[in-house]
Amino acid sequence: MLFSVTDVPLGRLILFGAASAFALFTTLLAQDLDLLVKAGHVIDPKNGVNGVMDVGIAGGKIARVATDIPINTAKRIVTAKGLYVVPGLIDMHVHVFYGTDPDAAYSNGPNAVLPDGFTFRSGVTTVVDTGSPGWRNFPQFKRQVIDASRTRVLALLNIVGHGMCGDPYEQDLADMDAKLTASRVKENPGVLVGVKVAHYSGPEWDPVDRAVEAGKIAQVPVMIDFGGHEPPLSLESLLLEHLRPGDIFTHMYAAVRGRIPITDEEGRVRPYVRKARERGIIFDVGHGGGSFFWAQAVPAMKEGFLPDTISTDLHRTSMNAGMKDMLNVISKLLNLGMAMDQAIAASTWRPAQCIRRLDLGHLSPGSPADVAVLRLREGELGFIDASGKYLPGRLKLECELTIRDGAVVWDLNGIAADQWQQN
Ligand SMILES: [Zn+2]
Repeated sequence: MLFSVTDVPLGRLILFGAASAFALFTTLLAQDLDLLVKAGHVIDPKNGVNGVMDVGIAGGKIARVATDIPINTAKRIVTAKGLYVVPGLIDMHVHVFYGTDPDAAYSNGPNAVLPDGFTFRSGVTTVVDTGSPGWRNFPQFKRQVIDASRTRVLALLNIVGHGMCGDPYEQDLADMDAKLTASRVKENPGVLVGVKVAHYSGPEWDPVDRAVEAGKIAQVPVMIDFGGHEPPLSLESLLLEHLRPGDIFTHMYAAVRGRIPITDEEGRVRPYVRKARERGIIFDVGHGGGSFFWAQAVPAMKEGFLPDTISTDLHRTSMNAGMKDMLNVISKLLNLGMAMDQAIAASTWRPAQCIRRLDLGHLSPGSPADVAVLRLREGELGFIDASGKYLPGRLKLECELTIRDGAVVWDLNGIAADQWQQN
């Protein structure tokens, strides 16, 4: 016998307490999700998910991804039927060191843009600024942009100490210091995720080699914006000798002065370019204002030479020309034959791996709840390349909803909002 007669009131109390606790528990369970994104087509390449699923979010983290998560377990429901639900996009090449110095170009100058105005509306939750600041002005960039943005801003540090503030700074070999660059990177682990080389026009390999040296010291990858050298430097030597596996070659579909393009005159991908991919060089789109040409992208993609990572090279002029935004760049590649799951991988998990931020770019339970809900438009659409030439296409992605650390930061049609009603 569990209770004696005299124990009954206490027993009742215990039972009552247990029942209350159970009721409280079920109430908590009923509300354990802050947000439930219901019935969307989830693509989460890291976890091999590609199908209709629900995504539950709690406390700013992904709580679970499953079919048929009950709606009474969430405080707010978003119906994503007919839409794609993907990890928040990672744009691995942007210039967001906007500032007020009219002579400073991309490094506290007017050629850069502030991230929040351009990211969430195209599903991007993380950007990697590629070399706008150098070791000298990174603290200013951190205060001015990283700490002041809702977008997660990471960066590759320019090998030039003054960063990308135009010539003559960017031609000054004396300001390209591997040790000082590496030590600044090491002071900011996970935020400074690599080293960048760009815009040097001399015949020397020093900028590339010093960036790689900094990358070795800090154990991070290097991204190369190659070209403009007089005389041109060997692309083969860059890809097969100077760079290490894991280093990134951006502007892969460019055809610019002072740089050998990746396809030859017959439109065939050069054998040493394929060899470079085999040895682990990462090929990044970096569309920009002058670095994506149909004349390169169409034949290369026909030969199956797809990008490892998709990025915009966002700055003041690229966003108003053929590039536009991250989803427009992804859409171009879809129209050229890249599969949706490949394109999402190249803009989520793949860049996260390249910059060694393995906590990002996927929907694993416990990871930051960065999510993009995308609509695929179909119709008679068009796209422009860096030469200003138009190519028709039938597919274009648009962003309906963006969630950053569990908070709705973009909602095009109010799918996560309560409906207004007149009293
Ligand atoms: Zn750039």
